[in-house]
Amino acid sequence: MVECQSCGGRYEPIQADGMEYYHRCPPLSVVELQQAVDDGRVTLPDKETVDEAVLRRTYERANFRDENRPSTRPKNPDAIKADGTGVVELDIDPIAAPVVPVEMPPIAKRP
Ligand SMILES: [Zn+2]
Repeated sequence: MVECQSCGGRYEPIQADGMEYYHRCPPLSVVELQQAVDDGRVTLPDKETVDEAVLRRTYERANFRDENRPSTRPKNPDAIKADGTGVVELDIDPIAAPVVPVEMPPIAKRP
């Protein structure tokens, strides 16, 4: 598991089913935007609240990380779109989620 140093997100680069996960920092949440406004890092349009602001536009971190590949060309194939502030490896095993069988409803037979 790694922790994104730009947004604090934690994730497994390889998912339980073997699929690769390419992290991309999400835009600021309402809480994060409110903090940025309170800190004077963002100024909202006059009389607009943070609740309204996040519905009208997205607010990105200046140092956002984007692990998606800019291209599938052979040149520099492991490049990612944006390093952001990087990631650190965490000494945490993935959570062993319990497995719950869910019965499918019977398929109705056509006459
Ligand atoms: Zn991130």
